[in-house]
Amino acid sequence: IENHVEENEHIFRSQYSPVPIPENVTLPEFVLQNAEFYGDKVAFVDAESGKEVTYNEVSRDIYRFAKALRSLGLRKGNVVIVVLPNVVEYAIVALGIMASGGVFSGANPTSHTSEIKKQVDSADAKLIITNSTTYEKVKSLGLPVIVLDDEFVEDAMNWKKLLEAADRAGDDQMKEPIHQNDLCAMPFSSGTTGMSKGVMLTHRNLVANLCSTLFAVVPEMIGKVTTLGLIPFFHIYGITGICCATIRNKGKVVVMGRFDLKSFLNALIKHEVTFAPIVPPIILGLVKNPIVDEFDLSKLKLQAVMTAAAPLAPELLTSFEHKFPGVLVQEAYGLTEHSCITLTFAQKKSGNTHKNSVGFILPNLEVKFIDPETGKSLPRNTPGELCVRSQCVMQGYYKQVDETSQTIDKNGWLHTGDVGFIDDEENVFIVDRIKELIKYKGFQVAPAELEAILLSHSLVEDAAVVPLSDEEAGEIPAASVVLSKGAKESEEDIMKFVASNVAHYKKVRVVHFVESIPKSPSGKIMRRLVKEKMVEKIKEN
Ligand code: AMP
Repeated sequence: IENHVEENEHIFRSQYSPVPIPENVTLPEFVLQNAEFYGDKVAFVDAESGKEVTYNEVSRDIYRFAKALRSLGLRKGNVVIVVLPNVVEYAIVALGIMASGGVFSGANPTSHTSEIKKQVDSADAKLIITNSTTYEKVKSLGLPVIVLDDEFVEDAMNWKKLLEAADRAGDDQMKEPIHQNDLCAMPFSSGTTGMSKGVMLTHRNLVANLCSTLFAVVPEMIGKVTTLGLIPFFHIYGITGICCATIRNKGKVVVMGRFDLKSFLNALIKHEVTFAPIVPPIILGLVKNPIVDEFDLSKLKLQAVMTAAAPLAPELLTSFEHKFPGVLVQEAYGLTEHSCITLTFAQKKSGNTHKNSVGFILPNLEVKFIDPETGKSLPRNTPGELCVRSQCVMQGYYKQVDETSQTIDKNGWLHTGDVGFIDDEENVFIVDRIKELIKYKGFQVAPAELEAILLSHSLVEDAAVVPLSDEEAGEIPAASVVLSKGAKESEEDIMKFVASNVAHYKKVRVVHFVESIPKSPSGKIMRRLVKEKMVEKIKEN
């Protein structure tokens, strides 16, 4: 593909032909197309309990639930927070919300009440859906709650009862037409800077992303793929890349609500999983953990793994290929603000010589790499900030006009905060990240959030949180902290304080006490400098 010069810009397009995006369909309509031909086929099965949901049930219950939500008074554009682990009904819940005109916003079920409250408040949410285990965390938030399992929970509505009531209700008078440009999802992401924000995605955004991502699916694959549903469904990678992509292709998802390597391998073997989307720390476990040797790997039916969400070290890829010969490794790069996957290999064969490339540009997308200082786009083989333009670009951050205009420019380019380049053979490489974001095992950690928590400690005067490299997690949050004069707190005390306020993956894992935090004249934390000083200090010790 030749450089496309537009107003003297270096713009790169996919080497694959454009794919059509159907007009005027909602995401539930798009994924359920032809589901009637697969009625008795299992769409979701729980890896441990074996509980199943068929395509008949998926198609029926999405619309039953949508009707129930409308009878409860949910209106177009209302946000519903879903606080659930991966369960077989998750996609019905999410797509049911979307089919009612509501906006699905997933939250991590390991979050603290204060973290869920932040999401509820910043999304102006109207309703919460959870299970009886997590109900305690959300009951004080002042919103109506629907509980998904059969346990009786006082003051909460039960989802099965709501579905039954929907069946008895007359024709749905309140149905408002839903358009492709209506919002349907609001996942949370901190983007390039600051706190976590609601990412506004429309039906069109997600349908467009699925069309681009699934461009290489051939008819013979329809109904044949068994995908592992381990990546959290509250993340866009889980709900779109796994649940929606599978329903669209009439495959089966083997749902895992929690991770340990033994259950993971058991699930792969028992359920004959053929495709496993995972993250680099799991690849590390598969390569290094001796537990793997207890399994007869010849029983695996696994054909491919997809790894995304964080960089994959080339040496790790090589070790994986040795241990699992014949399993294709498909790397992918994406971000919530771009509705999920952005770059990937259609097929990455063993022996690929470009081991640290994240893949090709997906069809329908335009990409450029800009000099972050001048904003000028750069030619091939020259690293710059990756910008992408397509129908998958979010509508903006909910109620954050400034943050939105800093992220999507007037020409529609989404500035990713990642640095990369494209080579002569269309391989894209991600080489750095200039945004604040920390990725712990693929989970987003916003430094600004941890800094606010540190500053709420009565004996902390100033703080800066930065990522440090870590073999197992990819990155860990580390804090430089200025204590008040005379304070006797230890590093452990500070770490415990943060841990008592956040979900496990956001814990600060290294604390260094310093005299001051380096800041620019405008008061911005100079994060690179903070990190350099920390790395120096660690080397000294
Ligand atoms: P999220 O919105 O949670 O999916 O996080 C998106 C961010 O994760 C990107 O902007 C990148 O910084 C990082 N990321 C995702 N995939 C990759 C990858 N394959 N290699 C390197 N970084 C990645």
